[in-house]
Amino acid sequence: MKIIMLGAPGAGKGTQAKQIADKYGIPHISTGDIFRANIKNGTELGKKAKEYMDQGALVPDELTCDLVMDRIAQDDAKNGFVLDGFPRTIPQAEALTAALEKIGQKMDFAIDVDVPDENIVNRMSGRRACLNCGATYHIVSIPPKQEGICDRCGSEIVLRDDDKPETVQKRLSVYHEQTQPLIEYYQKQGILQSVDGTVPMEEVFRSIVAILGE
Ligand code: AMP
Repeated sequence: MKIIMLGAPGAGKGTQAKQIADKYGIPHISTGDIFRANIKNGTELGKKAKEYMDQGALVPDELTCDLVMDRIAQDDAKNGFVLDGFPRTIPQAEALTAALEKIGQKMDFAIDVDVPDENIVNRMSGRRACLNCGATYHIVSIPPKQEGICDRCGSEIVLRDDDKPETVQKRLSVYHEQTQPLIEYYQKQGILQSVDGTVPMEEVFRSIVAILGE
């Protein structure tokens, strides 16, 4: 099963993607996580990506597409995968469609987690992330067991630079300009499904399972 998660930054698509990956036994592929891992390890890619990420801008397609194509060609992705944060532009979506066509495959589902802008800014200010293992929390809806500490690896959890309010506004406008057109793109491909992302996350997940099947 090959799934794309769509939705504004902060819509909760990462949380849902992780649960989908667990339930269906497919890898969760998050371009944001891949970039953050590269930043942490001080790679050339990480240095380049950071300049864009810190401003709330998108990392250029040429730095992003090959990375994803290499990742989905790996062995653990042969029965499917869930993409989180990719594609984010029409050229990225076209590159993905073309790469899959070459091997006689196509995406099965594009799931849009729909949350209005008003809710997003509030949510993002409460978001906390572990820069060590990538786990994400929310101070109200998904608090860690011990305040400020990651449940999974024990590192400190922080408000990511790109989740700060001024950057969130920029990311939202980038989303509307560059990513939202993907909703129509996948509608035309006949694989778009929308879920209400404003309800509690367990309910969001139930709606997604109803779409994907038990
Ligand atoms: P995320 O964790 O998905 O919210 O991504 C964090 C940041 O990484 C974004 O604001 C972008 O700067 C960058 N990024 C992640 N995925 C992509 C992508 N597919 N294309 C371009 N930039 C991306």
